[in-house]
Order: sequence, then structure tokens, then C-alpha cells
Amino acid sequence: MGRYDGKVVLVTGGGSGLGRDMALAFAAEGATACVIGRRQEKLDETVAAIEAAGGSGFGLACDVRDAARVEAVIGEIASRAGGIDVLVNNAAGNFVAPTEQLSPNGFKAVVDIVLLGTFNCTRLAFDALKARRGAILNIIASYAWSGEPGAIHSASAKAGVLAMTRTLAAEWGRYGIRANAIAPGPIHTEGTDKHLWSVGDVEETIRRQIPLGRLGRPADVSRAALFLCSADAEWISGATLAVDGAHWLDGGTLDFRGAFDRLTKAVDG
Ligand code: NAP
Repeated sequence: MGRYDGKVVLVTGGGSGLGRDMALAFAAEGATACVIGRRQEKLDETVAAIEAAGGSGFGLACDVRDAARVEAVIGEIASRAGGIDVLVNNAAGNFVAPTEQLSPNGFKAVVDIVLLGTFNCTRLAFDALKARRGAILNIIASYAWSGEPGAIHSASAKAGVLAMTRTLAAEWGRYGIRANAIAPGPIHTEGTDKHLWSVGDVEETIRRQIPLGRLGRPADVSRAALFLCSADAEWISGATLAVDGAHWLDGGTLDFRGAFDRLTKAVDG
């Protein structure tokens, strides 16, 4: 018997990294895990891993910036799985760029995925979430409030999603819909290991900033997600849980100024 038996969970960006791990974790607790993202083959890999572990789910290709496609996909999930209980807004894009070198299009690209994409999925899932008194979980980052030199686009967008989380908690509470956020600190994923932590001494520099002495693992975030979206958290809404080993409290912005030259392109984090 799992905590999510009979529930339907939609994870955006579920084809890799934290989204993939959360989809697996929800499915392991009994949920039907629906994953969306742009690359169908990555979604299929997540679904294969869910099924190999005895769970169930499916993946639908979708760009969260495309409201018409989001609407169609949410309709398909509701009809195939019977509804939506949990929406995890996890999809994101990011890259390191000093602000003075960032083009307006580069800024817009990240803001569109993170802020507009989160709005699209949330707004278009409203009817389904209302019907099930569902839960929204937004994956932001501790740099939403600390700022992040080298990622003004992502920091600005995540700060917007933080405001969205609080607004929705206040506005949709009357429908029984909860909205919370997780702010991960630096986490090991395939993407961040390849593009960030392996560059020079970046991992060691960041590790020294983390009071709990290590970078995060996807399971650190997934366990928090399982709690915040469950009945155990039924009176928690509008909250942001930092899952970061107390990184931000120790002055730990993800400050890449010393490595700008080498970190010209990176995925999230
Ligand atoms: P990741 O592996 O790059 O995952 C991002 C996912 O978003 C990908 O599966 C990607 O799939 C999807 N995506 C990107 N653009 C999309 C679009 N337009 N429409 C739909 N899906 C899209 O990153 P991650 O490290 O797991 O990060 C997951 C979340 O945690 C993000 O919100 C990130 O900001 C946050 N976070 C991560 C860290 C960290 O250290 N890893 C730290 C703080 C916050 P496609 O490319 O196939 O679309």
C-alpha cells in the first residue's frame, strides 16, 4: 500500500534529473506518473524505469511554453488516467552567462520556460486540480531570493514562480488546492554533473559552502516532494521548503563568477 495509491501525478520535465526521480518516487508510492517534456525518447526512458520497478505511468511530448499543447496534454491525461491530483512544475532551462553578455532572447528563453511554462501548466490544470482538491508543487531554487550571479534569467524567473506559489495558495485555497515550493540547492544530476560540478574546482568550492558538507541527491528532493504533496501536509500551503543542506543560510549563492569563462553553457543549477 503506497501513499499515492489511486492518485495521478503530472511531472513536467520528467524525462531527466530531478523530474525523473520524482516521477519514479511518486510511482513507487502507487501513483500513475505522467511525465511531460519536449523529447519523447527521454520520457519513454522514465516510463520504462517506472514500469521496470512495477509502477505505472506514461509520457506525452509537450513544450510547456505552448499553451494549446499543454491544454491538449492535460485533457489527455485527465481522460486516460481519470484526473490529476498533483502537478509538479519542474521543467526548466538554464545556462551560465554574465548579465552584460546575456541577450534579450537568452533572457526570454529561460523566463518563458520557467515562468510562463509554470503558469500555463498551472492555469490549464485548474479544472482537473479543483475536481480532486489537488496539490501544486513548484520546483524553484534558493537563488530565487538570494540571487545568482551568472543566472539573472533563472533567478528572476524562479522569483516569479515563488510569487506565483504564494498567490495561488491564497487564491485557490478556497477550492482546496494547495500550492507549495521546493527550493533545491546544488544537486547532482546527469546534467549538472556534466556541465557544472565537473568543471574545474566548482564542485569542491560549492561543497565547502554547504554546512551539511555535501551536494544534494535527487532523492533528497523527491522525499520532500512526496511529503509536501501528501495528506500529511494537508494544512501546509504557500510554503517553500529549502532542500539545500543549509547552503543559502551560509551565504551560499551559486556564484559562478570565478568560472564564467569555463561555464559558458550549462543546464539547471
Ligand atoms: P534537467 O535535468 O535539465 O531537467 C529539466 C527538464 O525540463 C528536462 O527534462 C527538459 O526536457 C525539461 N524541459 C526543458 N524545457 C522544456 C520545455 N520548454 N517544455 C517542457 N519541458 C522542458 O534539470 P534538473 O537539474 O533536473 O532540474 C530540475 C528542476 O530543479 C529545475 O526546475 C531546476 O531549475 C531546479 N533546480 C535544480 C538544481 C540542481 O542543482 N540540479 C538546483 C536548483 C534548482 P526536454 O529538454 O526534453 O524538454
